[in-house]
Amino acid sequence: MPGDMMTIVQMCGVCRTEIATIQVKKENMMLSTTAKVWCPNCKAQRPEIRDAAGRLAAIQTEVATYPKSDAG
Ligand SMILES: [Zn+2]
Repeated sequence: MPGDMMTIVQMCGVCRTEIATIQVKKENMMLSTTAKVWCPNCKAQRPEIRDAAGRLAAIQTEVATYPKSDAG
């Protein structure tokens, strides 16, 4: 079903540089993998780590919509 996808951020397991964001089906979501990715920061193959992008986005949205002080 469309809409049942979620965004996963793929990061370097060593320096946490964001490598890519990928769309996966929720039921196929795997946050632990043994895959290796090329990290442009480390300039080496590194174990990848994954995190759900939604959590970050939710935090950013919350910050963006935080009401600015209009007093004073
Ligand atoms: Zn790295």
